[in-house]
Amino acid sequence: MTASPSTLPARAVVASVDRGIRAIVSGTAGGSTCTTELAASPWTFDAAPGYGPGASMGDVIPTGAPRQGVLPTEYREASESELHARIAAAKRVLGDRVVVLGHFYQRDEVVRHADYVGDSFQLAKAAQAHPEAEAIVFCGVHFMAETADLLSGREQAVILPNLAAGCSMADMADIDQVEDCWEQLEDVYGPLDRPGEDGLVPIVPVTYMNSSAAIKGFVGRHGGIVCTSSNARTVLEWAFARGRRVLFFPDQHLGRNTAKAMGVPLEAMPMWNPNRALGGSSSEQLQDARVILWHGFCSVHRRFTVDQIERARAEHPGVRVIVHPECPMPVVDAADEAGSTDVIRRAIEDAVEPTVFAIGTEINLVQRLAAAHPRHTVFCLDPVVCPCSTMYRIHPGYLAWTLEELVAGRVVNRIEVPGAVADPARLALERMLACAPQATARTA
Ligand code: SF4
Repeated sequence: MTASPSTLPARAVVASVDRGIRAIVSGTAGGSTCTTELAASPWTFDAAPGYGPGASMGDVIPTGAPRQGVLPTEYREASESELHARIAAAKRVLGDRVVVLGHFYQRDEVVRHADYVGDSFQLAKAAQAHPEAEAIVFCGVHFMAETADLLSGREQAVILPNLAAGCSMADMADIDQVEDCWEQLEDVYGPLDRPGEDGLVPIVPVTYMNSSAAIKGFVGRHGGIVCTSSNARTVLEWAFARGRRVLFFPDQHLGRNTAKAMGVPLEAMPMWNPNRALGGSSSEQLQDARVILWHGFCSVHRRFTVDQIERARAEHPGVRVIVHPECPMPVVDAADEAGSTDVIRRAIEDAVEPTVFAIGTEINLVQRLAAAHPRHTVFCLDPVVCPCSTMYRIHPGYLAWTLEELVAGRVVNRIEVPGAVADPARLALERMLACAPQATARTA
């Protein structure tokens, strides 16, 4: 059965997507999920190929993607309340020695234990603000833990509770493919690091925060910069002050939506498909390009459609539609507003009059906002409950395990970026910080 947005009014919504999915699958609640496998525990999928159930389950996972070893039985068999008590007890023992970070898209059962809740960059900054902590447990995905490692102290251990928590979008920009793209662009434009008479280099690489440390390092080595969904425009202005064009990866939608809002015509934004010569464009098209968009996308945000917006407007006259800029361009164009997760959160928090909000972003954040603001009606534009596959891989069982291992003096699942990659990656992040300072995460 497919639920319409009107079946998810704020007052009926609980913050826990886990419980909601279990109720739908058992038939005790209405609505639908994209797969009934979401009701299973994530360790069921640790040995299986792929990203696991959820929005990315149809995406191709790279061969070398990290896998998670077997989670000890005591954590797999513990009840929700037992895990909650064990996590809280371990945190009490560890005190200031550990900081737990929870991404906005994490399940509620994990977020409740986070010292800070925010987007990936806010959380990396929160890690940086705690040099006294021996360990930073990052309840997010792999590239986020890498970024926290880049910004935290050398002695601090950044831990990802489940190594299978990658990100299908970040995985779409593979470093070998990006190096190959750069070589092909050099054939078209000539030396890429040499400014022309106008003082501009032929192209500046810009990577979204949602990319591997290897990609951030590539960008740093080639005079480029990192951006987030909240500062993408400022960063593109920085890049256009230095280059005639931008190579933007991995998310084509954020690149297209941002550049379009800046007045760049769509025909000057060819897509780079890494499996085709010259990315699938002609030399002439690349010469005329202003922004070359990597062929990447987020499978969570690609689920949102213009039809969903039209349905929300028909069922809730006066609804305020806010979507994330990782959504496809027609969806962003049809929405009332587009903005980062933090922009969405603040829009709802700041609304004075009771308001109906239809939101186009990950379901865990939407339902938590709905539960936190009962005087508004907040629902997800996508009527099918389909969380981010890889955020879903972080379960309280893994958090309890990593924390109790720390109590026992053992560090498991440490994420470390090698120095040769870390130095240029940090440079790319510092360039971003210099041109577009960020807000900080809020304490949980
Ligand atoms: S929501 Fe999208 S971009 Fe974010 S971690 Fe999941 S797949 Fe990656």
